Amino acid sequence: MYCKVLVTKPFDKTFTYKTKNNMKVKVGNVVRVPFGSRKSQVGVVYDISDNNIESNKFTIKEIEIIYNKLILNKKLLKLIDWIANYTLAPKGLVLKLVLVNENIISHKYLQDKHNIIRSNKIKLNIEQIKAYHFIEKEIINSPSTIVLEGVTGSGKTEVFFKNIENIINAKKQALLMLPEISLTPQIEKRIKERFGFSPNIWHSKITEKQKKITWHKCFAGEPVIVVGARSSLFLPFKNLGLIVVDEEHDLSYKQEDNIRYHARDLAIVRSKIEKIPIILSSATPSLETYNNVFKKKFLHVNLFGQYSGLELPKIELINLQKENLKTNQWISVNILNELKNCIEKKEQALLFLNRRGYSPLMLCSNCGYRYHCEQCSSWLVMHQNKKRLLCHHCGTIYPIESNCSNCKSHDTLKLIGPGVERLAEELKEKFPNFKVGIMSSDNANTPNKIKKIIENFSTKKIDILVATQIMAKGYHFPNLSFVGVIDADAGLLGGDMRAIERTYNLLQQVSGRAGRTKKRGKVYIQTYFPNQPVIQSFIKRDREDFVQHLLLERKKFNMPPFSFMTAIIIAGPSKIKTETFSLKLINSIKPEKDIDVLGPVEAPLFLLRGKYRYRLLFKSKSRKKLNLYTKKLVNNSPIPGSLRLTIDVDPYTFV
Ligand code: ADP
Ligand code: ZN
Ligand code: ZN
Repeated sequence: MYCKVLVTKPFDKTFTYKTKNNMKVKVGNVVRVPFGSRKSQVGVVYDISDNNIESNKFTIKEIEIIYNKLILNKKLLKLIDWIANYTLAPKGLVLKLVLVNENIISHKYLQDKHNIIRSNKIKLNIEQIKAYHFIEKEIINSPSTIVLEGVTGSGKTEVFFKNIENIINAKKQALLMLPEISLTPQIEKRIKERFGFSPNIWHSKITEKQKKITWHKCFAGEPVIVVGARSSLFLPFKNLGLIVVDEEHDLSYKQEDNIRYHARDLAIVRSKIEKIPIILSSATPSLETYNNVFKKKFLHVNLFGQYSGLELPKIELINLQKENLKTNQWISVNILNELKNCIEKKEQALLFLNRRGYSPLMLCSNCGYRYHCEQCSSWLVMHQNKKRLLCHHCGTIYPIESNCSNCKSHDTLKLIGPGVERLAEELKEKFPNFKVGIMSSDNANTPNKIKKIIENFSTKKIDILVATQIMAKGYHFPNLSFVGVIDADAGLLGGDMRAIERTYNLLQQVSGRAGRTKKRGKVYIQTYFPNQPVIQSFIKRDREDFVQHLLLERKKFNMPPFSFMTAIIIAGPSKIKTETFSLKLINSIKPEKDIDVLGPVEAPLFLLRGKYRYRLLFKSKSRKKLNLYTKKLVNNSPIPGSLRLTIDVDPYTFV
């Protein structure tokens, strides 16, 4: 027998192998085959025939091992094909996302006791019951995409927990996707309390042992709740009944390295292939999602108001143009007063600034030299706690010097602007008796460290937490009553097409931390431009109006979701060679009338990790045409060994 095998290597095509004497093999079988000169590879059988259809130029090698118990079903193979076609990633690498590694698939898994719900019964309120029934009807009747919208604290999680409970009772599997690993500990705890058993966690930081168990439980079709990051959507579920994408608007769902894909979008594709419903849950559904609701492609259900019945926090703007902030101070009098008030009443406060470290720029006041990374086009960020300068793009560490490294003068180095560390310092000066904590990806970089900070804040070991966006998501602090936003304008500087949407969402998510249980919260927002439309619509809480307005704009300029985009990034150590190849690439095929081409241009982040980067951007009304065009383009010009070409279908970042 001859088998066409797709191996977990960057190839689209299959390779032919023959079976050994008594091997029995089926389409979908996971196998190990010799590959290339060095190692064997795992792969999957795509096709079987009695005679060799390939030309006889090569000697046909034999399959080494057939993992008899492992047969990927048709749905999974279809998913792999679909993803490879859409993202233009080599099919073999998509397969690798499913099979992970040989250790995991070859694990001998013994069936475990099934999860039995010992549910701590929660009574849903009237709105929640409505939403739950709405979703349940879809689960039973017609598998659709359902948008579950509701402000933070409105009780969305409890609603989809109830739907998940029914899935588990029906002995099916549920997948709950989260945008960030940091959110897993809290939801894990909640599931344990709610269902009486732990969910299976799936993300890059769990142990190989845990991965083995979860992978095989999914494969065996056991009734599990999997809580996972992006990659969980590739798990080999045999019996999936429901997918929930929590915080569906979150940009972290877009995977940016290795294979580029949008996990929410692929989760929707998976739900279609599995013929099961999917819930997209968010306080701030994305523009793309809203557009699908308006077009009636997605269903929409809303929870109004917080579960606690409390009014949403009171929001006030602080116009920084009218504030006379002293040099090297960033917190306005109003916020300082409010903090004092809040802590004296034994409540807690959060200051939000989306900037890690102490200061985003160090320069010499004598010669004007700005400290920058030698490998990247970016300034170095000063980190006081770790006493170093750090490049946030490549991670290179530089020492802090006392003399200017350019003009050698002494005592002339100035730190420009604040990060969370510097704000914390300002707070400690103003309130020496308050306990000030910091939360950013520098100190909250493992689930355990996050747990610790959250715990310290929950148990009031911290009065004021200064945090980046890492804390804007999903956390619940009953005693937090005041939130101060230090720089509402920061996010708008990037200026890409999603900056406004992102800023609005962040403001809403951050504000949503205040006043969730006991009393109405209060939010102060510092801005230099209080009349900006995005800030005004946020104050008015008219999200629908805001979204309609943005969509009209996107339509006018023919931007997604009213067109499709694909970006190509070409990077290499030689500027000339990279530029020359980029030009050659685009000139290698004729322009097509349905496809707009922009570039090649120097990327905003021109130098990254020592590589020069050029960008191309294509736009079209047809995804199919765009993909054909991109494929043709890439296949036409072989890439020189020193360069790297990345295809980004539906790009979200443009740096
Ligand atoms: P969301 O997911 O919309 O942010 P959550 O589901 O986390 O909201 O609910 C916010 C808070 O209210 C949580 O502490 C949750 O336990 C509580 N809560 C929500 N619904 C109920 C309910 N029906 N009964 C008791 N507590 C509830
Ligand atoms: Zn100098
Ligand atoms: Zn760098």
